[in-house]
Amino acid sequence: MRIVILGPPGSGKGTQAKIISEMYGIPHINTGDLLREEVAKGTEVGRIAKPYMDQGKLVPDDVITRMLEERLSQEDCKGGFILDGYPRNLHQVDLLDEILKRLGVDLDCVLNILIDDEVVVRRLTTRRICSVCGAIYNLINKPPKKEGVCDICGGRLIQRDDDREEVIRRRLEVYKEQSEPVLERYRKRGLVRDIRGDVGLEALPAEIKRVLAGCK
Ligand code: AMP
Repeated sequence: MRIVILGPPGSGKGTQAKIISEMYGIPHINTGDLLREEVAKGTEVGRIAKPYMDQGKLVPDDVITRMLEERLSQEDCKGGFILDGYPRNLHQVDLLDEILKRLGVDLDCVLNILIDDEVVVRRLTTRRICSVCGAIYNLINKPPKKEGVCDICGGRLIQRDDDREEVIRRRLEVYKEQSEPVLERYRKRGLVRDIRGDVGLEALPAEIKRVLAGCK
């Protein structure tokens, strides 16, 4: 199964991708993670990408596309993959088409996570991160035993700057601007399957199975 997954920040995209990856035995390819690895390893791609990433700008298409093609050409992607973080614009849709054509494969499905903006705002503004070990809490669903203190290491819990409401609303706007044209293009091809982003963790595997059963 070859899947692209799209969803706004705070939609649980990473969680859904991880479940799908385990369920179908396919690698979860996240372009942001791939780039962070390149930066950490100090490769040429990493050196080019870093200044863009630091400013929250898109890395030039040719750089990221070359890196992605290399990754999708590896053995573990032969049986399929779930692609997260790409494509982010129409040019990248075309570039992905070209990569898949060279590899002699097709996309089976574009999974589109539907979630209300207010649910995302509530989820992210109540998120707290341990400033020491990075453990993630949520004041509503997963509160720490002691207010403001990490259960695991006793570190101080903080709110990330980009989890503030005005920043979240801006990120949601940017996501919509970027993803609408991509979704429209894939919808015309009949590839898009909508999936709910507000179901609980326990119900998620069944929801994923139901939605993906409609794919090729
Ligand atoms: P993310 O983890 O998805 O937020 O990605 C982190 C950063 O990596 C982004 O801010 C971009 O600089 C870069 N990046 C990830 N995916 C892409 C992409 N498809 N095209 C261009 N830049 C990307």
